[in-house]
Amino acid sequence: MEYLPDSWNKLVDVFLSTSVFVFLDYDGTLTPIVDKPENAVLSAESMRVLRRLRDKYCVGIVSGRSLEDVRSLVGVSGIYYAGNHGLEVSGPKINSKALGFERFRPVIREICSNLKSSLGDVDGVLVEDKGLTASIHYRLVSERDRGRVEGDFWNLVGGYVDSGDVKVTSGKMVFEIRPSVDWDKGRAVKWVVDSAGGGDSLIVYFGDDRTDEDVFRRLGEGDVGVLVSEDEGIESGAGYFLRDVDEVIEFLSVLSRLE
Ligand SMILES: [Mg+2]
Repeated sequence: MEYLPDSWNKLVDVFLSTSVFVFLDYDGTLTPIVDKPENAVLSAESMRVLRRLRDKYCVGIVSGRSLEDVRSLVGVSGIYYAGNHGLEVSGPKINSKALGFERFRPVIREICSNLKSSLGDVDGVLVEDKGLTASIHYRLVSERDRGRVEGDFWNLVGGYVDSGDVKVTSGKMVFEIRPSVDWDKGRAVKWVVDSAGGGDSLIVYFGDDRTDEDVFRRLGEGDVGVLVSEDEGIESGAGYFLRDVDEVIEFLSVLSRLE
């Protein structure tokens, strides 16, 4: 990976000579990671930079949050928003109903409601219903009760997995439930560019974690993938890196003034 500012001279001519889509992850990329997700608020300066960027390029935000959540946090009009890792998208010339994922909403709702009634009496369980996906956090559950949480979870959700409706991934004390479809942030980014008639446009993508690798590995030759990480030795499909959110905003600011 190259440090992005070191490659600036090489990239600047490319940015000026073609149509460009700039996509950004939200948490950890545009705002620092915080303990409570609702506290990840965009600074006024970052908002100004995004507006200037929008006036020059096609801009999109791609997040694991729900579409509604990320759109209201960013609050900039005239750009693309992809929520739930790209399962729902909004923006100019885009109709994400065409993707056909809305049909999963009722089953996710049903699962969340069953989990809430079954695990509601366990202290520390958080069932987060994000519409097209759900996260069940149990980091705050006492060690004594964790086995029960995991058992009840699989009792309730196993059938939906077996019938092919949803798939489950487990993280650090969290279960993620999502529709059983072959879709990720990378596919969503490509779909947005194609749907917006962007064809051969250059794609620039900034992201900081595992789900952003789905984008990096789908980028074409000449596209620019930027990992936000303090650790430049980390394994990644990105060609470039920046160290933190401040460096991202600074770079976007330069990009937005390019002429
Ligand atoms: Mg992130």
